[in-house]
Amino acid sequence: MRQRKPLVVANWKMNGDQCLAHQVSDSLAALSGSLPDILICPPVIFLPNFPKHPHYSLGAQNLSEQAAGAFTGEISAVMLAQAGASHVIVGHSERRTLFGETNQQVTKKVEQALDAGLKPILCIGETASQRSEEKTFQVLAEQLDAVYSAQPQWLEASVVAYEPLWAIGTGNTATPEQAQQVHAFIRQHLTQYSADAAAALRILYGGSVNAGNSEALFAQADVDGALIGGASLNAAEFAAICLSA
Ligand code: PGA
Repeated sequence: MRQRKPLVVANWKMNGDQCLAHQVSDSLAALSGSLPDILICPPVIFLPNFPKHPHYSLGAQNLSEQAAGAFTGEISAVMLAQAGASHVIVGHSERRTLFGETNQQVTKKVEQALDAGLKPILCIGETASQRSEEKTFQVLAEQLDAVYSAQPQWLEASVVAYEPLWAIGTGNTATPEQAQQVHAFIRQHLTQYSADAAAALRILYGGSVNAGNSEALFAQADVDGALIGGASLNAAEFAAICLSA
């Protein structure tokens, strides 16, 4: 019996349309047996009209670090909740690298999410050069501590996603052993904030997960699900990944 119920998350990024929403909804609705928790994070514009089904919930990919005000183009946590989101991805590496999001902004976003009753999925990960310089654990510890050192109680309502940058969209998945080693480090590192919350925390792996490698990843003791980009845009493949969890 698994200690933590797996969570499988689709991150559509800036892809998809209403037609994909229906395809994904239909394939997930057709699943039976014991299912993981399933979350779909489409572009926010699709949230209000996304077909609903008890087999999955909906989330967002980003949010504003501000609660309200003159911030043209931004969307607040409260708005996301009203649009049907239960979770929000925070600090995805594309936000950090392409849009310059800092650990400080990521922390503010986690706070906004929690204030609005959304569960943050905090993304952390190292680059290829940081890994080759053996700085992986140091980088991950910094990213985690930036958020949780001042507010350890935030851990209870959080999900953490380990997404090595060298594995995202590259086809270079971390091996199950590499993922397990890092996930075990993350859980151990977080026990300083709360041993109970660290034990209960779902730690997802992300980076080139597909229907061919998901089962071996999910078999690892500390891999509690996945955050899936490319393969989540294929309704049948995403459903197969969910079934393997
Ligand atoms: P990928 O993306 O599955 O396409 O590698 C994962 C992610 O960026 O969350």
